[in-house]
Amino acid sequence: MKHTKIILDENDIPKHWYNIQADLKTPLDPPLHPQTKQPITPDDLKAIFPLELIKQEVSRQRYIPIPPAVRDIYRLWRPTPLYRARRLEATLKTPAEIYYKWEGTSPPGSHKPNSAVAQAYYNRQAGKERLVTETGAGQWGSALAFSTHLFGLQCRVYMVKCSYEQKPYRRVLMETWGAEVYPSPTTLTNAGREILKKDPQTTGSLGIAISEAVEDAATHDNTNYALGSVLNHVVLHQTVIGLEMKQQFKLLGKYPDILCGCVGGGSNFSGSCFPFIQDKINKKHPDLKVISVEPLACPTLTQGDYRYDYGDSVGLTPLLKMYTLGHDFVPPAIHAGGLRYHGDSPLLSKLTKEGYMEALAYTQQEVFEAAVLFARTEGFLVAPESAHAIRAVIDYARICKQKKEKKIIVFTNSGHGHFDLAAYDAYLNKKIPNGEYKKQINTIAV
Ligand SMILES: *Cc1c(COP(=O)(O)O)cnc(C)c1O
Repeated sequence: MKHTKIILDENDIPKHWYNIQADLKTPLDPPLHPQTKQPITPDDLKAIFPLELIKQEVSRQRYIPIPPAVRDIYRLWRPTPLYRARRLEATLKTPAEIYYKWEGTSPPGSHKPNSAVAQAYYNRQAGKERLVTETGAGQWGSALAFSTHLFGLQCRVYMVKCSYEQKPYRRVLMETWGAEVYPSPTTLTNAGREILKKDPQTTGSLGIAISEAVEDAATHDNTNYALGSVLNHVVLHQTVIGLEMKQQFKLLGKYPDILCGCVGGGSNFSGSCFPFIQDKINKKHPDLKVISVEPLACPTLTQGDYRYDYGDSVGLTPLLKMYTLGHDFVPPAIHAGGLRYHGDSPLLSKLTKEGYMEALAYTQQEVFEAAVLFARTEGFLVAPESAHAIRAVIDYARICKQKKEKKIIVFTNSGHGHFDLAAYDAYLNKKIPNGEYKKQINTIAV
């Protein structure tokens, strides 16, 4: 049969998350305390995270059960479909097969609630009343606003100032779900006031907004902090994507040759590819190519260094061993707000360093060209973040055409772009600067 999409049953929603830490050949380098530079202890994290999430952060148990209350909310949009992009294939005249996992079907419109729902659940279980967070493009903030409300928690979001101004409708969505939203840097925290003193005109950054949210959580007893990417427990929750994809390919009787995904902090792509990388580590599928795609304006994996760095701008968070452009790096205000982060998941970084994964970077022009071609062939108008993956897929499909190779190419389509129409408008009216990265000299080694 000629499938356009492969749909699983609600009962096929995974019952466990997959923890790749169980299959690493050598353990992750531990996070270090920001002041003492010694490995952090679970106690250090208790001020801002619930115990269950701290346990997941360091766990080496291969499969971790998904609580029934979380799985029950996943049912609102999961399992998500795996599409075959037949019209894109035909337009490119490629012999390759192109598939995509469509995460834009969730209420907030991206993969982010896969973790937000779990985090809201564990914080509620731990007796917290309020969660605070940062958001770039507004996707994570809306995912957390949606999830906290379902568990009766209050929610405050520090939204990166340039996104707050570019995307007022994301704010309205968060407020509709009951959250408070402030443009970061604010004057509500010491971290925000410090930054504003130095640079009153700053467009903000995820690193700055994280500093504000962490400070807020650490200074309120009833409040914890929630991070939308980077950390091991977030990546863990996102593995529902890859576990479903594996079932879907099994139904097709196929296995991918190339996996692509966009990488901001690494959560959607790690969650998609780690269940496949397990097969690469175990040498079941050693030739699988796994490609992270990032903006040339914020090229963490392609031009950053692999070393310890802070997760935020101010230096409040533990030091993580990861690819980084330096915690003080403020990327240009590109439209893919979710990809403007100086670091990356330590797990994804380690697997990249060890050669299990590779990375590519593209300009905004190249990315929007791909997004528009996708909209005109497959119909869906995707988030600028997701379009990074599409750009790489198109390039691989063209290589397959030249080499007459019938490869199976899959990407994770991380979200829809219905709140990004101003960005599409700018592209269609030829007003998109490329925003290429100029290597800064002020990266501080730690
Ligand atoms: C947040 C976001 C990203 C980037 O974050 P990751 O943690 O790298 O997945 C990518 N796509 C969309 C649609 C997002 O909202």
